[in-house]
Amino acid sequence: MAPEGIETERVVGDAGASVDPALRIDDLVKRYPTGTEALRCVSLEIQAGEFFGLLGPNGAGKSTLIHCATGLAQPTSGSIRIFGNDAVDHYEAARLAVGLAPQELNLDWFLTVHETLDYHGGYFGMRRRERRERAAELLEAFSLTDKRDERIRTLSGGMKRRLVLARALMHRPRLLILDEPTAGVDVELRLELWHYVQRINAEGTTVLLTTHYLEEAEQLCDRIAFINEGQIVATGTSGDLAAEFGVSSLEDAYLELVGRKELSRAHVGVDAP
Ligand code: ADP
Repeated sequence: MAPEGIETERVVGDAGASVDPALRIDDLVKRYPTGTEALRCVSLEIQAGEFFGLLGPNGAGKSTLIHCATGLAQPTSGSIRIFGNDAVDHYEAARLAVGLAPQELNLDWFLTVHETLDYHGGYFGMRRRERRERAAELLEAFSLTDKRDERIRTLSGGMKRRLVLARALMHRPRLLILDEPTAGVDVELRLELWHYVQRINAEGTTVLLTTHYLEEAEQLCDRIAFINEGQIVATGTSGDLAAEFGVSSLEDAYLELVGRKELSRAHVGVDAP
């Protein structure tokens, strides 16, 4: 079931179905003023409805890619289209289609839970009644209804994480970008967050997830791209990636990618004294 509410320009095929990918990146280059080339000709396509993982070591360019896709950074060259809308030339339509849950809990400590959602909806042009209804729906979905009028600073870490996710969904984005949503969270909360995002995806929202956790990517993602030193090195299912690197698991493929194959479990097993 596709989420309602976001109007974007779409190319419609003969059968009436949208043919625009959720995210299409062509030859994206991002050079920071410091001279660092964080993205070196990245091309990537994520289909509507996919759960897509972007995996790579620190400094690979994951955050830069997300920042370019959400207007937080200006590409040096290349193009980004979100459901057919150019992220620079049609910034508003592109931005409306995206919900971003950043890694850092960038909440206003003095707002209440409800105000956090309400202000976000207002920023995205939602009317008061729609904001009230959507906020109530999300508070229920994320088990935060009884915290509605609590100030953020009084919430537990898990509640803040859930609220960041709810806020990202407030304006009914068709593409949800999760930037390392489970970095540093305990196992229980990680599983809880997985449960939520799987449900959101099953309801029709496309998901782009960046993560360090191979297990997370393997469990959740339909397809995964490996990014290293600003370039997409391989894309496919975890099985495709293992096959491409000539190994038997996603973990071993990743170790090949980062040049640490001596850490492979198979290798460690063989060499153990
Ligand atoms: P990741 O999210 O995969 O860890 P980043 O996108 O944060 O990678 O970083 C990619 C490269 O760009 C790194 O070399 C990083 O030091 C550099 N970088 C990131 N942000 C900036 C910035 N604002 N100014 C200059 N260099 C940056």
